[in-house]
Amino acid sequence: MVVRIDAEAVRGAVDPEIYRAAEALLAAGRLGRIVEVNGGVVAAVHTDSGATAYEVWVGVVDRAFSSECDCAGPETDPEELCAHAVAVTLTALADGFPWSANATPPSTTQVDPEVRRLADVAATLPVRRLALLVAEHAVTDRRLEARLLTYAGELDAPTEDELADVRKVVESLAAEATTGQWDLYDVAKAGQQIVEELEVLAQRPATEATLLTVEYAARRWDALLGLVGEAADDEDFEEIGSALRAVHVRLCLESQAEPEPLVERLLDIIEAAETGASCLDRPTDYLPVLGPDGVAALTD
Ligand SMILES: [Zn+2]
Repeated sequence: MVVRIDAEAVRGAVDPEIYRAAEALLAAGRLGRIVEVNGGVVAAVHTDSGATAYEVWVGVVDRAFSSECDCAGPETDPEELCAHAVAVTLTALADGFPWSANATPPSTTQVDPEVRRLADVAATLPVRRLALLVAEHAVTDRRLEARLLTYAGELDAPTEDELADVRKVVESLAAEATTGQWDLYDVAKAGQQIVEELEVLAQRPATEATLLTVEYAARRWDALLGLVGEAADDEDFEEIGSALRAVHVRLCLESQAEPEPLVERLLDIIEAAETGASCLDRPTDYLPVLGPDGVAALTD
């Protein structure tokens, strides 16, 4: 479900001073690119010099705007929206952002304790040292590079041309893996490369067009598995299938895929699988996307 709320409702709900401060932030161009996170939006608020001062998340929770900001909220009432949150909200409203009615504040999402521990350590580093560390890794990791550029607002959702190129890459990887003398290793390697292409795509803002490209790749992978016979059950192949499915589920959530057409497409993909088993055929993995009724429709 998507809720519609307008700027006037926000103005009426916040302290006039905070609203004015938010307008000043917007006028000064202090807001970074808005990114969808957990059904709400996240943006960085910059200082005069362009460094990131705060990160703020805003989403609709229990029919009202809720926020989490590094500034810890207004001094008068930390539960209320701060000027950063109001600025982000107004920008997202102006962009026509489709607010999810049940967004999840980032602080309540489960983070791996090890990730949390390392994030706490990273937070103690000077910004320049941290930036260099990230850059050194991003240079050799296309996924991290795409994520970094997306967070910075330098990469948008993939264009139709870019998606067509990814489909071509998938197609040629799949074709090469089974041309001439080939063995299981060739197929596994192609599968891993296909997954990497999709994971790079998945770092960018999600759209239905990206989702359809992942589904194209899933069909292609299912067809490849049809050629390897019983080896399709090998651990390597299972891992590729579940990585591909994980990308698909993630994009379904991020692009807020409509359940009904999604169920239809999934049924179509499952039926087309030459091995009789599609990599997307794990209905319970789609519970967060489809809900119990959608999962039941998949299993019938
Ligand atoms: Zn704030």
